[in-house]
Amino acid sequence: EFSVRPEIMEFDPYKPGLTIEQIQAEYGLETVIKLASNENPLGTSPVVQKTIERNAARAFRYPENHTPRLVEEISRQVGVPEECVLVGNGSDEIIDMLFRMKAHPGRDNVVCYEHCFSMYRMCAKLAGVEYREVPRGKDFALPLDKMAEAADENTAMVIVTSPDNPTGQVAHVEDLAVLAGVLPKDCLLVVDEAYVDFTWPPESYTPVQAWDKFENLVVLRTFSKAYGLAGLRVGYGILPPALMARLKNARIPFTVNLLAEEAAIAALRDETFYNETLQLVMSGREYFADELKRLGCRVWPTQANFVMFQPPKNAMDVFQALLERGIIVRPLKSFGLPDCIRVNVGTKQENETFIKVIGELLRG
Ligand code: PMP
Repeated sequence: EFSVRPEIMEFDPYKPGLTIEQIQAEYGLETVIKLASNENPLGTSPVVQKTIERNAARAFRYPENHTPRLVEEISRQVGVPEECVLVGNGSDEIIDMLFRMKAHPGRDNVVCYEHCFSMYRMCAKLAGVEYREVPRGKDFALPLDKMAEAADENTAMVIVTSPDNPTGQVAHVEDLAVLAGVLPKDCLLVVDEAYVDFTWPPESYTPVQAWDKFENLVVLRTFSKAYGLAGLRVGYGILPPALMARLKNARIPFTVNLLAEEAAIAALRDETFYNETLQLVMSGREYFADELKRLGCRVWPTQANFVMFQPPKNAMDVFQALLERGIIVRPLKSFGLPDCIRVNVGTKQENETFIKVIGELLRG
């Protein structure tokens, strides 16, 4: 027996998502389709692949600390000053940093809402910070007003995911501004925009103008979805300069690797791939919504690259039956939604196969 911090004792083993290889081996299948982790349906951009190959020989070098070239590119493309951009090993790392560096262990709390991305709870526990979960409204509406009520003088952050995972709904900028305005100045409003590229019409909270009024606004973005780099782990936060000044000295060096930095720069410049991704996702999610409704499922409106639905049969049984037929989707039991499933948009052919197979299951 070794002693560890009491918070660490409370962790259950992490269950990673199923991989294509696992399902191929388990069910003896040749072709398996994965629509479970909201990855890019087009794969890795060919331009990015070439960039990675070109830079492979430099892998023996340390990367430049804190990815200054990527920071510059993000600053230019997003239109925010360089001193606001914090790049991390996936946006997961930025979330973890905010919990560890902003919230005081044993004193502070963080306010989120139920059925949301599991990293927030995990990071709260790791950081020794109280996690407050506000109930959602009708039809899983984001409870922004209740979040404001739940915050007190020890609330370090209030976190909203927009578009929301797993429902796909968007928090409107005006409503977020109201929330930011009622929070204490030292309490951050963190808007996790992992899926923001897919919103139509565009609805993103680029904070530069908002900072005139609300200095407490932080926005998180990722290269894992629309830019197709989930495996390389790159994300970033746009933070108020005064907060960045505090955090930057305590950062662990070199968490973003050299190939990831080069790939992310190339991905930002590869407009063709990005636009093709958006088109595919937007038409695919409409197709899913229409077809799933036709099959008797309840479907929630989505602005992300996935759709949440409730099948007319037991969701875990449907998930299992899909697996046995070589299709991996995400059952939402671990989000506290045992009747629902999340499926991300794939290629046109993958989408059609999914609808055909789930159609057979639901009609049969
Ligand atoms: N935020 C949300 C809401 C997400 O769904 C995800 C990915 N599952 C992330 C953050 C993490 O993304 P990254 O790959 O950049 O760590």
